[in-house]
Amino acid sequence: MERAIRYSKKRADILAAIQGTNCHPSAEWVYQQLKPTHPGLSLGTVYRNLIFFRQQGLIQSIGVVGGQERFDGTLTPHSHFVCDCCGSVLDLPDICPDGDLDQTVSRQYGLAVQRHELTFHGQCRSCAQAQSHHQNQIEEESSA
Ligand SMILES: [Zn+2]
Ligand SMILES: [Zn+2]
Repeated sequence: MERAIRYSKKRADILAAIQGTNCHPSAEWVYQQLKPTHPGLSLGTVYRNLIFFRQQGLIQSIGVVGGQERFDGTLTPHSHFVCDCCGSVLDLPDICPDGDLDQTVSRQYGLAVQRHELTFHGQCRSCAQAQSHHQNQIEEESSA
Protein backbone atom coordinates (compact mmCIF):
# COMPACT_ATOMS: atom_id res chain seq x y z
CA MET A 1 0.00 0.00 0.00
CA GLU A 2 1.34 3.40 -0.98
CA ARG A 3 1.19 6.26 1.44
CA ALA A 4 1.11 9.91 0.47
CA ILE A 5 4.39 10.55 2.23
CA ARG A 6 6.99 7.83 2.11
CA TYR A 7 9.33 7.87 5.04
CA SER A 8 12.72 6.30 5.21
CA LYS A 9 12.93 3.24 7.46
CA LYS A 10 14.77 5.30 10.05
CA ARG A 11 12.15 8.02 10.02
CA ALA A 12 9.31 5.48 10.19
CA ASP A 13 10.97 3.78 13.16
CA ILE A 14 11.29 7.09 15.02
CA LEU A 15 7.60 7.76 14.47
CA ALA A 16 6.67 4.21 15.50
CA ALA A 17 8.72 4.54 18.70
CA ILE A 18 6.84 7.62 19.84
CA GLN A 19 3.44 6.34 18.73
CA GLY A 20 4.04 3.03 20.47
CA THR A 21 4.50 4.47 23.96
CA ASN A 22 2.42 6.57 26.30
CA CYS A 23 5.41 7.73 28.36
CA HIS A 24 5.61 11.07 26.50
CA PRO A 25 9.24 10.56 25.63
CA SER A 26 12.04 13.03 25.06
CA ALA A 27 14.27 12.84 21.98
CA GLU A 28 16.88 11.23 24.23
CA TRP A 29 14.47 8.41 25.16
CA VAL A 30 13.64 7.68 21.51
CA TYR A 31 17.34 7.78 20.68
CA GLN A 32 18.15 5.25 23.41
CA GLN A 33 15.34 2.97 22.18
CA LEU A 34 16.54 2.96 18.58
CA LYS A 35 20.30 3.04 19.07
CA PRO A 36 20.73 -0.76 19.26
CA THR A 37 19.02 -1.29 15.89
CA HIS A 38 20.24 1.96 14.26
CA PRO A 39 23.91 2.27 15.17
CA GLY A 40 24.42 5.28 12.88
CA LEU A 41 21.61 7.29 14.42
CA SER A 42 22.38 10.54 16.23
CA LEU A 43 20.39 12.36 18.87
CA GLY A 44 20.26 15.39 16.57
CA THR A 45 18.62 13.33 13.82
CA VAL A 46 16.01 12.03 16.24
CA TYR A 47 15.27 15.55 17.45
CA ARG A 48 14.99 16.97 13.92
CA ASN A 49 12.60 14.18 12.96
CA LEU A 50 10.44 14.78 16.03
CA ILE A 51 10.21 18.47 15.13
CA PHE A 52 9.30 17.45 11.57
CA PHE A 53 6.55 15.12 12.81
CA ARG A 54 5.24 17.86 15.05
CA GLN A 55 5.09 20.26 12.11
CA GLN A 56 3.24 17.58 10.13
CA GLY A 57 0.74 17.28 12.97
CA LEU A 58 1.59 13.62 13.58
CA ILE A 59 2.72 14.16 17.14
CA GLN A 60 2.52 17.03 19.61
CA SER A 61 5.00 18.64 21.90
CA ILE A 62 3.87 18.92 25.50
CA GLY A 63 6.62 21.28 26.56
CA VAL A 64 9.74 20.98 28.63
CA VAL A 65 9.77 18.72 31.68
CA GLY A 66 12.95 18.59 33.76
CA GLY A 67 14.90 20.40 31.04
CA GLN A 68 13.90 18.13 28.13
CA GLU A 69 11.18 18.70 25.56
CA ARG A 70 8.63 15.88 25.70
CA PHE A 71 6.52 14.57 22.85
CA ASP A 72 3.14 12.87 22.66
CA GLY A 73 1.96 10.50 19.96
CA THR A 74 -1.65 10.79 21.14
CA LEU A 75 -3.47 13.60 19.37
CA THR A 76 -6.95 13.29 20.84
CA PRO A 77 -7.67 16.11 23.34
CA HIS A 78 -6.55 15.12 26.80
CA SER A 79 -4.80 16.61 29.79
CA HIS A 80 -1.59 15.70 31.52
CA PHE A 81 -0.22 15.16 34.96
CA VAL A 82 3.47 15.87 35.43
CA CYS A 83 5.28 14.34 38.39
CA ASP A 84 7.69 16.99 39.62
CA CYS A 85 9.55 14.29 41.48
CA CYS A 86 10.46 11.72 38.80
CA GLY A 87 9.45 13.61 35.65
CA SER A 88 6.88 11.06 34.49
CA VAL A 89 4.03 12.45 32.40
CA LEU A 90 0.65 10.72 32.67
CA ASP A 91 -2.38 11.03 30.41
CA LEU A 92 -5.68 12.16 31.90
CA PRO A 93 -7.92 11.03 29.03
CA ASP A 94 -11.17 12.05 30.71
CA ILE A 95 -10.06 15.58 31.56
CA CYS A 96 -10.67 17.52 28.36
CA PRO A 97 -10.03 21.22 27.89
CA ASP A 98 -13.35 23.05 27.91
CA GLY A 99 -14.29 25.11 24.84
CA ASP A 100 -16.36 27.49 26.99
CA LEU A 101 -13.21 28.62 28.72
CA ASP A 102 -11.65 29.52 25.36
CA GLN A 103 -14.62 31.76 24.64
CA THR A 104 -14.57 33.33 28.07
CA VAL A 105 -10.89 34.22 27.75
CA SER A 106 -11.39 35.44 24.18
CA ARG A 107 -14.17 37.77 25.30
CA GLN A 108 -12.56 38.96 28.47
CA TYR A 109 -9.14 39.75 26.99
CA GLY A 110 -10.05 40.43 23.34
CA LEU A 111 -7.97 37.51 22.07
CA ALA A 112 -8.74 34.88 19.47
CA VAL A 113 -8.14 31.83 21.67
CA GLN A 114 -8.11 28.58 19.72
CA ARG A 115 -7.28 26.07 22.42
CA HIS A 116 -5.78 25.64 25.83
CA GLU A 117 -4.05 22.88 27.64
CA LEU A 118 -4.36 21.67 31.19
CA THR A 119 -1.32 20.29 32.93
CA PHE A 120 -1.48 19.22 36.55
CA HIS A 121 1.64 19.04 38.68
CA GLY A 122 2.44 17.06 41.78
CA GLN A 123 3.70 13.65 42.75
CA CYS A 124 2.77 10.44 40.98
CA ARG A 125 1.55 7.43 42.98
CA SER A 126 4.90 5.75 43.31
CA CYS A 127 6.69 8.97 44.30
CA ALA A 128 4.00 9.82 46.86
CA GLN A 129 4.28 6.28 48.22
CA ALA A 130 8.06 6.39 48.33
CA GLN A 131 7.89 9.68 50.20
CA SER A 132 5.41 8.40 52.78
CA HIS A 133 7.61 5.31 53.35
CA HIS A 134 10.54 7.61 53.77
CA GLN A 135 8.63 9.75 56.24
CA ASN A 136 7.53 6.66 58.20
CA GLN A 137 11.15 5.59 58.37
CA ILE A 138 12.21 8.95 59.74
CA GLU A 139 9.41 8.81 62.30
CA GLU A 140 10.38 5.26 63.33
CA GLU A 141 14.02 6.19 63.60
CA SER A 142 13.32 9.26 65.68
CA SER A 143 10.97 7.37 68.03
CA ALA A 144 13.43 4.47 68.46
ZN1 LIG B 1 6.91 10.36 40.19
ZN1 LIG C 1 -0.57 12.64 26.48
